[in-house]
Amino acid sequence: MAQELILIVEDNEKNLKLVRDLLQFNGYQTIEAMTAEEGIEIARAHHPALILMDIQLPGMDGITALQHLRADPLTKEIPVVAVTASVMTNERKKILEAGFEGYQRKPIKIKEFIEAVRSALNPRLDGQDAS
Ligand code: MN
Repeated sequence: MAQELILIVEDNEKNLKLVRDLLQFNGYQTIEAMTAEEGIEIARAHHPALILMDIQLPGMDGITALQHLRADPLTKEIPVVAVTASVMTNERKKILEAGFEGYQRKPIKIKEFIEAVRSALNPRLDGQDAS
């Protein structure tokens, strides 16, 4: 069931537009932040069904932002998927160990990205990531 509200935290306008268009085309509602600090405030205020979190952001990074979200009773249950240009195995491990629900690499692969969104929103219906 689409229509869920998804928060996109992304500082690159082109990536932000791509993700916004893709989600809206698939029937989701979107809300946006260009910094982690703003994203945390929006998450607290709007309680989105899912957060897509860029890792490299001005100011606070996405991993630190996840720690803040997890420490707050208002936001700790919201699934968060990392979206990052990083391809290093070490970085990937660090991201998954930090507690993200998943990991999507930029540039985004459309089908895989939407599958990951669906899976993060419905973990019991759709348990595995497309690879
Ligand atoms: Mn970025």
